[in-house]
Amino acid sequence: MAIDLQSVTIDEIRNAWLSQQRIQLRMLRLDKIHPVISGNKWFKLKENLRAAKQCHKNTLLTFGGAYSNHLIATAAAARESGFYSIGFIRGFHGNPQTNPTLKACLEYGMELKFLSREAYNQKDEEYFIAQLKQQYPKAWIIPEGGNNSQGRKGVEEIVRYQPNDAELIVLPVGSGATFAGLRNVTPSSKKMMGFVPFKNADNLKVEIQSHLLPSVGNWELCTDNQFGGFAKQTPELLRFLNAFYRDYQIPLDFIYTGKMMFGLFELIQQHHFPKHTSILAIHTGGLQGNASLALDYTVSKPE
Ligand SMILES: *Cc1c(COP(=O)(O)O)cnc(C)c1O
Repeated sequence: MAIDLQSVTIDEIRNAWLSQQRIQLRMLRLDKIHPVISGNKWFKLKENLRAAKQCHKNTLLTFGGAYSNHLIATAAAARESGFYSIGFIRGFHGNPQTNPTLKACLEYGMELKFLSREAYNQKDEEYFIAQLKQQYPKAWIIPEGGNNSQGRKGVEEIVRYQPNDAELIVLPVGSGATFAGLRNVTPSSKKMMGFVPFKNADNLKVEIQSHLLPSVGNWELCTDNQFGGFAKQTPELLRFLNAFYRDYQIPLDFIYTGKMMFGLFELIQQHHFPKHTSILAIHTGGLQGNASLALDYTVSKPE
């Protein structure tokens, strides 16, 4: 299945308390472009694919946890573009066939290498990368989360979907590649807010800042809604995802977009934003991750 950029829509989210505050909330549905290479992942990969071809590589090599959307997107994109792929997996013990993400990676032909958490933490060290380059001379090495200059360049394309009248752009943040790339090209009059689904966002702030052009500001990170930490969930979060689907017919993933929309709704209900604010929330995809949950959107699907 090919990437379908034509399928992107901007959906308006309407309810009583939004209209009461005269807040316009729209969602940019990047999740629709592909079931696996979805949302921001395609944009981060496309310039990497181009560079890999230019350098005459035949393999994409990357890193991720056992539920990584980036890992599976890389595996699928490699398969579609005629590349081999190798994935280095963080701290996974057991049978990869029991993990929906890893199982799919194997089906896309990705070769999986399992690293202890300790070894995995070396993955960005110069000596480690040098060793990999020697071992896999035909591999284009992409860091975790697609967070390299090609990744940040690729996401700049997302700016063309932003409606002119959107004053606040919100998106979930992982490595920060999408946020930094997009902040650099989004008009400075628009505020950007990143929702962080894990603890300790201090490094992330520094990481994002290091990739911003000197003149770029008007952004903040919100770290209030982690639901126990990265990729963790609670019954409250799952109820929210199902209610969100029932009310607006938009599926959210539990790791990124679900926590973002929960946090955004909370802020709006606390009157955090001025009346009449026009908000654009970016749906960054990731729905494949819900395969590890017993989430059944069809139950609440309206006839
Ligand atoms: C990977 C991912 C993110 C985080 O993107 P970064 O560029 O790493 O910050 C956000 N949302 C979803 C659904 C993702 O899969």
